[in-house]
Amino acid sequence: MAKATVNKIISFSCVDGPGNRSAVFLQGCGFDCRYCHNPETIHACIHCGECVKYCKPGALTTKNERVNYDITKCVFCDECFRHCPHGASARTRELTAEQVMREVRRNLPFIRGITVSGGECTLWRDFLLELLSLAKAEGLGTLLDSNGSYEFSKDSELMTVTDGVMLDVKAWEREDHLRVTGCDNACVLRNLDWLARAGKLTEVRTVVVPELFDCRQTVREVSALLAKLGCLDARYKIIRYRPMGVREQYKGLTPPAEDFLQELAGIAAGYGLKDVVVI
Ligand code: SF4
Ligand code: SF4
Repeated sequence: MAKATVNKIISFSCVDGPGNRSAVFLQGCGFDCRYCHNPETIHACIHCGECVKYCKPGALTTKNERVNYDITKCVFCDECFRHCPHGASARTRELTAEQVMREVRRNLPFIRGITVSGGECTLWRDFLLELLSLAKAEGLGTLLDSNGSYEFSKDSELMTVTDGVMLDVKAWEREDHLRVTGCDNACVLRNLDWLARAGKLTEVRTVVVPELFDCRQTVREVSALLAKLGCLDARYKIIRYRPMGVREQYKGLTPPAEDFLQELAGIAAGYGLKDVVVI
């Protein structure tokens, strides 16, 4: 069975898709968003050992030049990744899909589905396929939370076990997207189009940072495309940038004003989108 580096499993979440769900967060992301609120999920741990001395309960130990994590001793104080100089976390576990499902099965009476997030969950494609297949066998709904860097249209096997994708559209213009994430957005926009046509687009999310990109244009173009494709029921989540958790060097970004967020929501609603939320 394929393994993935699992950052955390949340038994019950009502913010990672519709209804009560278990959410699984995988480590690693190819984007480097300036406003990332969980920068410790971006890189893989290189086992330098720096964080071990900050772990007072002894959940982190070093053996054979590797840092090991014992979840039973962890008090989730976050001291380890606050002191990691590499944007990583040693508070992770290498788990098979079946091991993850063993934890999710305990929640079965209380959840309607699972959402796999990150980091960027599609970096672990084979693991995803196994995990979502197991979840389907339990009668659970399955959602992926993605930055759109994976070509979903070319993976019919994965899409067969995926009910929907919650897709980040971080900026419409290529140059803007490069400034926000360090990466091109051609694949993201192909996914937006393809997922909407395939009936697999559950949600689009845009984090609003007026200094970084043309937010009006992004919301307008996304909404116009969804309207053109008749995908009016997908939720469009317009997310207020907040500095909490953001890396020190990017903390100077200014959160948007409430009236600007409402203006953006109005643009989306003006195209006929039925489920526009500002959070
Ligand atoms: S989490 Fe960071 S500080 Fe800790 S061992 Fe890994 S790379 Fe080093
Ligand atoms: S969060 Fe990190 S530092 Fe805190 S107890 Fe857990 S492993 Fe140790």
